[in-house]
Amino acid sequence: MILFINFKRKYKIYKKEINQALEKVFKRGWFILGPEVEKFEKNFAQYLRIKHIIGVGSGTDAIFLALKALGIGQGDEVITVANTAVPTISAIRMTGARPVFVDINEETFNINATLIEEKISPKTKVILPVHLYGYPSNMGEIMKIAKKYNLKVVEDVCQAHGARYKGRLVGTIGDIGCFSFYPTKNLGAFGDAGAIVTNNKKIVETVMALRKYGQVGRFSNKSREIRSRLDELQAAILNWGLNKLDLWNKKREELAKIYLENLKNLPLDLPPRANQDFKPVWHLFVIRAERRDQLKEFLEKKGIQTIIHYPQPIFEQEVYKSLNYKAKDLPITKKVSKKILSLPLYPELEKKEVLRVCKAIKSFYDSRK
Ligand SMILES: *Cc1c(COP(=O)(O)O)cnc(C)c1O
Repeated sequence: MILFINFKRKYKIYKKEINQALEKVFKRGWFILGPEVEKFEKNFAQYLRIKHIIGVGSGTDAIFLALKALGIGQGDEVITVANTAVPTISAIRMTGARPVFVDINEETFNINATLIEEKISPKTKVILPVHLYGYPSNMGEIMKIAKKYNLKVVEDVCQAHGARYKGRLVGTIGDIGCFSFYPTKNLGAFGDAGAIVTNNKKIVETVMALRKYGQVGRFSNKSREIRSRLDELQAAILNWGLNKLDLWNKKREELAKIYLENLKNLPLDLPPRANQDFKPVWHLFVIRAERRDQLKEFLEKKGIQTIIHYPQPIFEQEVYKSLNYKAKDLPITKKVSKKILSLPLYPELEKKEVLRVCKAIKSFYDSRK
């Protein structure tokens, strides 16, 4: 069986280091917002070469708090995409703002920057690109438009820890970057965790208070926001994992290359490779396949797990129908959702397993020519 993700294997490989990291926290006896969190905020800031990092409870919270810190709420519009993890959109909705969807580029799956301007209205406050599957969005174009219309840029970096656009780490290009450390992410905790990154001191102060129910002094509260803290056990895992992030990303890249080499000349489209300007980190390996659903079922029978990220554009989900979007408004988003399939890809996956997946895909198309 080739699992889509395998945390038992990860623990087996790193058991000693993981146990040591956790034991340190147990022995210290301090569990919420303490020395491990501070160390992580410092180290991850250094890794990203950014001034400030604030650990929060999750990626969803990071996006919500980032928007709140920018004063976004009822009546405002946030420009983003509809082929993202639902939390991108739920975080926007939590502020009361309206998500405005822009169609995507068929090859990169990311926001099509040439379509952004026509969606800008007097209510638009923020552009929120998602670096989907670990591939950087076109930040050059996005920043140009933001500047022209005086908009803020909040990057959803939940799938792209370490990815680069023109040499710069994504998450550090816009006004605020929002990370998730959900276990499956390139840098994953063993529970929920997230972070906001920014160079803006004022945003830091606001979010520091917001993550503790608006608390500014010991018993003084300036607003009524949520509780969203990073805990020490997760931070200890992140401190350990941060030292491995580049290695893990390299392993992902090596495995992705095997897929790219071995899946050529089949009735499917492969994800974009790295080039001069765009350096992805291969959070997911997503193909666009003919007869996708049959292929998925075929692989399942061969003991190979795959997932579809995401089977429906967000506006087709029942609770988001009131946003009033139709498939014809976002034709590429819709088209791609019917073809995409994510193949297993994680640092602990073995080369021979990737080759087995490739062989199975080939045999699917060979037997159905
Ligand atoms: C994982 C993810 C999130 C949300 O992160 P959580 O930590 O699960 O709240 C948001 N956006 C994208 C694109 C994600 O992949």
